[in-house]
Amino acid sequence: MGEFTPAHYIAQRDTPCRVMVIHTMEAPEGPQTAENVARYFASGQVVASAHMCVDQDSVVYCLPASAVAFAAPGCNSDGYQVEHAGYARQSPEEWGDAASVAMLQLSAQATREIADSLGIPLRHLTDEELAAGESGFVGHDQVSRVYKRSDHTDPGPSFPWSYYMGLVNGTTAQLAINTTSEENNMQFVRSKQTNTIYAVTPYTVTAMTSAKTWQDTVKALALDEEYTVSLDDGDIAAIAADCAARRQVLVADIVAALKAGE
Ligand SMILES: [Zn+2]
Repeated sequence: MGEFTPAHYIAQRDTPCRVMVIHTMEAPEGPQTAENVARYFASGQVVASAHMCVDQDSVVYCLPASAVAFAAPGCNSDGYQVEHAGYARQSPEEWGDAASVAMLQLSAQATREIADSLGIPLRHLTDEELAAGESGFVGHDQVSRVYKRSDHTDPGPSFPWSYYMGLVNGTTAQLAINTTSEENNMQFVRSKQTNTIYAVTPYTVTAMTSAKTWQDTVKALALDEEYTVSLDDGDIAAIAADCAARRQVLVADIVAALKAGE
């Protein structure tokens, strides 16, 4: 989290930053998506860049706020561009999955900091307010509609604006689902029968598919192998069933919250 991969395309900013522009990358959700898209921006293969790329577990900064990124014609000179893993076509349910919620939480934390530092109000502008020159958060789709200089429709009609802005300004902090700190709740168990190691969180039981995955995880989370307890396969299956049930309730809660907010 908080890495820096400088983008290739950059211009000098000579207009104060007025709007935080929300995008989707049109790339699949995944733990490496922000890193990959940031590297793509760094490669100079396309005339495109952004200030920040976010996925479920990381925020990669690509340009300082004092520079202009090439992302949303009409609001490049006075915009701060934030790219999110996923697609504009996503449904409300897809915006409510664990990866999206973890990403929105990370993003909201980061954009609040940036917006505060730039004096940008923590509110979502209407198209009319954007056209009138007001300051706040907008989608790339709004920039397209208002300035008619691109046809991009991201982050899409189902982007959960109320939920996201609630996270940004702190009013729906209580809705924040505990997925970003999932690794803090992670425990490892080893099967007495097969020796397979499972990562157990309140919502998932994941088999470590190889010794390398396990070693990488131990390293990434700075864990000690002593952390592991041994259980019978039957007990692990029971834990997995509990997790699945909890996860079902969690996803239903998130979807309901997203629908209520729209
Ligand atoms: Zn966009």
